[in-house]
Amino acid sequence: MSDTGVAGNVLDVEKIRKDFPILSQSVRGKPLIYLDNAATTHKPISVIERVRNFDAEKYGTVRRGTYKLSEHATQLYEEVRQKVADFMGAEKKGEIVFTSGTTQAINLVAHSFGKRFVNEGDEIVISNIEHHANIVPWQVLCEERGAKLKVIPVDDDGELVMEEYEKLLSPKTRMVAVNHVSNALGTINPIKEITQKAHAVGARVLIDGAQSTPHIKLDVRDIDCDFYTFSGHKMYGPSGIGGVYGKMELWEEMPPYVTGGDMIMQVTLEKTTYAKPPARFEAGTPPITQVMGLGAAIDYLNEIGMDKIADYENSLLEYGTRLFKEIEGVRIIGNARRKASIISFFSDSAHPHDMVHFLDQDGIACRGGHHCAQPTMIRYGVPATTRASMAFYNKPEELDALAESVQKCIRIFS
Ligand code: PLP
Repeated sequence: MSDTGVAGNVLDVEKIRKDFPILSQSVRGKPLIYLDNAATTHKPISVIERVRNFDAEKYGTVRRGTYKLSEHATQLYEEVRQKVADFMGAEKKGEIVFTSGTTQAINLVAHSFGKRFVNEGDEIVISNIEHHANIVPWQVLCEERGAKLKVIPVDDDGELVMEEYEKLLSPKTRMVAVNHVSNALGTINPIKEITQKAHAVGARVLIDGAQSTPHIKLDVRDIDCDFYTFSGHKMYGPSGIGGVYGKMELWEEMPPYVTGGDMIMQVTLEKTTYAKPPARFEAGTPPITQVMGLGAAIDYLNEIGMDKIADYENSLLEYGTRLFKEIEGVRIIGNARRKASIISFFSDSAHPHDMVHFLDQDGIACRGGHHCAQPTMIRYGVPATTRASMAFYNKPEELDALAESVQKCIRIFS
């Protein structure tokens, strides 16, 4: 432990930072302090190199060519599917469907599961602290199918009110869709308990894992959820690739969402039969290169170890929270007992948009806004927040610099 209390003995952060070329640059004459990792993360050189090497030497179409390049690319593509399955704790690699990210993954499940299993009078349960990606697809589904959307309330600290959740459940509930980690508050939701309670009334469960996959060691079989989504660009991989784990028995019963090439068994002009999952849900040429980058990102995370990442980031979060609690005129939005890597805050002195502009002058990249979670902002009576979201390459000194810049901003704007 350093005198900041941050577990520097867990990870060699200086060594890790050398793996991320972008972090060594200066912004406006100051060293870049990157604290917008909940929006997107940076890539280690191993990801950049894997992508470059694949494109330079191995690129080919997948699942259709019968020549060497294509066969090898297909093999590498399927190896990444296995890697993702292992990373998430899935039983079979075919339970992983690649999508462009979490948004597309939730749309796929809402559309396809909804078409097959949701009817008039049925109910879908979400929470008050979801990203728009886990709200709008369910609203659209409810409108289309004549179903009803129910919302789990959240308390003043940012924790879901579990007694109220239980009251929302009934035999009419078809799906419970909640995030594992809230992108606006950092709350870690009790997803295992949420899943058990949903299953007890016969409902299925989708976990939006966009913010958890980079921070928490996963075991989807232990959680027992029915679907679990992720985004590669939040896990140190490329943008344009992500996916969703789903139980095979469900995928097998679900109709396709996007249709076209590659998702078929046979097409005649009269009728089409569909391929088995996961191909049924991966129409068209997939983002082949991005899949390779995702594979490299998972290798990188595995090499460091998700347990170590969680330990280090937890101590960083504790340190940052202590700093922010001492800043006069700042209110942390989201004080759940279990949180991951996010400090969201508000000051009456400076609007978050002004605040992040000010921080940028000090080379600090933070996000100010509603974080695609407007219902969360409404719940806490703020128009927006400033959000510092950390990764394992961040250092306690960077949080010191952030706190100092925030204090300077408040002084000037007051
Ligand atoms: N869900 C959560 C909790 C998120 O934080 C995000 C992105 O910020 C998304 C879903 C959407 O992810 P993507 O933009 O990668 O599709």
